[in-house]
Amino acid sequence: MLSRDEKDEIEDNYYRIQDNIIEAAESAGRNADEIKLVAISKGQSLNKINFVRELGVHAIGESRVQELRDKEEKQPEEIDWHFVGHLQRNKVKYLARMDNCNLIHSLDSLRLAKEIEKRAAKNKREMSVLIQINVARDENKFGFMPEDLIPFLEKAEQFDNLSFEGLMTLVPHYDDNEEAREDFKKLADLRRRAEEKGFEMPELSMGMTNDYKVAIEEGATMIRLGRELFGERQY
Ligand SMILES: *Cc1c(COP(=O)(O)O)cnc(C)c1O
Repeated sequence: MLSRDEKDEIEDNYYRIQDNIIEAAESAGRNADEIKLVAISKGQSLNKINFVRELGVHAIGESRVQELRDKEEKQPEEIDWHFVGHLQRNKVKYLARMDNCNLIHSLDSLRLAKEIEKRAAKNKREMSVLIQINVARDENKFGFMPEDLIPFLEKAEQFDNLSFEGLMTLVPHYDDNEEAREDFKKLADLRRRAEEKGFEMPELSMGMTNDYKVAIEEGATMIRLGRELFGERQY
């Protein structure tokens, strides 16, 4: 059970986030309904996850397969799970077996795509993915280099069990959010170029606690918030 104080804190966070989403969307001439909040629950308890679901958050994102499986096992009840972390190929089978693992945000290589395709086919399902792009060209981050996206999509047309829903990026931590803005603009531009080539990429998953307002101004359709919603992680 959560204490009254814990609930109050999360509730205040949730309503502040809603206000910020509306404000950022309006300042960019967008409709706030286009922006989906994905609550990133790594390091957070199931009680907290259930509380944010009561508040109205649907999508819950985890970044480690083991932690996701542990939570799923304790609560088989239907949660709209997303996977957002770096995915090792030997863990794909666990996600493919989870009927309610609805979106993988972090497809970052052709080899991983082949594995997801194989496991999805085995489980007779389609798996939805976002393609992770390393827009900042940060050596410590996973993802496709921007120039590799179109060649990848051309090869990926053979994958019948994969559904490419859009692009995702994880930007470095900058002291100045205007640097993050440049990266978000690059992701939005890249989507435009993919669409010109006939690849529909409706979703842009970008923006976390430090920079989600800027990400919304630049076109994010999914923002991934951990600490901003739940408070600090409890590892
Ligand atoms: C942890 C994590 C987040 C959320 O980070 P916060 O800064 O706590 O909002 C978002 N995306 C990914 C991929 C993460 O691993």
